[in-house]
Amino acid sequence: MKENKLEKIINLAERRGFVFKSYEVYGGLRGFYDFGHLGVILKNNIKNLWLKDILSMQNIYLIETPIIGPRILYEASGHIENFYDRLVECKSCHNRFREDHLLKGEYGEIKIKDNKALCPLCGGELTEARNFNLMFKTFVGPVEELSTESYLRPETAQGIFINFKNILNSMRAKLPFGIAQIGKSFRNEITPKNFIFRIREFEQMEIEFFVRPEEADKYFEFWVEKRFNWYINFLGIKKENLIKHIQTEEELAHYAKAAVDVYYKFPFGEDEIEGIANRTDYDLKRHMEYSKEDLTYFDEKTKNKIIPYVIEPSAGVERIFFAILCDSYDEDEMPNEKGKLEKRIVLRFKPWLAPIQVAIFPLLSNRENLVKKAKEVYELLKNDFRVYYDESGSIGRRYRRQDEIGTPYCITIDFQTLEDNTVTVRDRDTGNQERINLEEINDYLKDKFKL
Ligand code: ATP
Repeated sequence: MKENKLEKIINLAERRGFVFKSYEVYGGLRGFYDFGHLGVILKNNIKNLWLKDILSMQNIYLIETPIIGPRILYEASGHIENFYDRLVECKSCHNRFREDHLLKGEYGEIKIKDNKALCPLCGGELTEARNFNLMFKTFVGPVEELSTESYLRPETAQGIFINFKNILNSMRAKLPFGIAQIGKSFRNEITPKNFIFRIREFEQMEIEFFVRPEEADKYFEFWVEKRFNWYINFLGIKKENLIKHIQTEEELAHYAKAAVDVYYKFPFGEDEIEGIANRTDYDLKRHMEYSKEDLTYFDEKTKNKIIPYVIEPSAGVERIFFAILCDSYDEDEMPNEKGKLEKRIVLRFKPWLAPIQVAIFPLLSNRENLVKKAKEVYELLKNDFRVYYDESGSIGRRYRRQDEIGTPYCITIDFQTLEDNTVTVRDRDTGNQERINLEEINDYLKDKFKL
């Protein structure tokens, strides 16, 4: 299963409406993906679980800032000067590569000639590496000149830093406190690849956690721990599939003093789904310098003005989404209605994470009384759970369809239901069925969906 697990997951995601390639009718646009019905629900579940965790802390405040920012913002942040990848191009086939990825062998085996790497695709000579800035440029208003030059944000963080004073004053915040934002970011990646892992438009969930400089190391450790636990306890990702990657001096971004990445063991290799960085006072200082605004914090304790340090946990929604798909994808065998073992595909989502939580089936679609009762059950549950009604095909087929999209429970309304008001509840993972009275069904299910 391992060799083509990636293909199987991508295939399932497209076939069942989690993810589609963007602009496919026009031949597609590399690095962009659409999310279908189930995908949008799963994405929202991820974001809500992130919010649930951080908002329970009391000292985290939310913000939403524009995607487009003026040039000066990214001069101040250092992105115009520093946010680039090293790009090489093949002189024969004109394919372009990220030099660091090329040297790591990510595009395939590289041959060396006269001490220089050759094109991994055609063996041609490569150009010297040049800097390629990853930001998308645009202009605000009708005049295209330096003063209207703007950029799509490559991270949501800068909108947070420049709101430091607004949140501080309006929320009467005291250190340590955080400002959090969920939103789209854009990077003109040289080679988008691995399905939705490296894309050009993606969503980030970021927290800038402001602390006293002397407490930065302590809170850095706190956030590394907290974020790892979130993946395990809130998303149910298997601990053994997560890796703590400590960034080396060379890997650190221009603003960071220390960084730990959360790596997930994807079928194509282990790679980053979140980075936790100590950004020091770099960003606030730079924005003070460029904006001439006072972004200091008055410390009541010492009666001094200080510039806080920042600890930043920054996670990508699509990479987490992908990690969840990989972590929950499974193939096993289940007996069909005749008791014969049949292969099936199943997504073992945690119950609270599943896009559809309860599927409701009348045993037979041509029996009016069963259909009527099943629709009543749908009405009974629809406000408390994400439910789905299905009457088409055999019960076995309906189970398989739900297994494939990770629905943890299927309820069947049969002839006994009409007599004693009980239904069967079938568990996705074990295939076991329990008979539950409809008077108790809400409480029974609520218990199953507890985080
Ligand atoms: P990489 O080294 O893989 O390019 P990065 O270290 O530049 O990633 P960060 O700047 O730390 O990434 O961004 C924080 C998070 O945003 C990442 O952990 C990831 O989840 C997400 N992210 C960054 N770039 C992309 C991308 N091109 N596609 C999807 N998600 C991304």
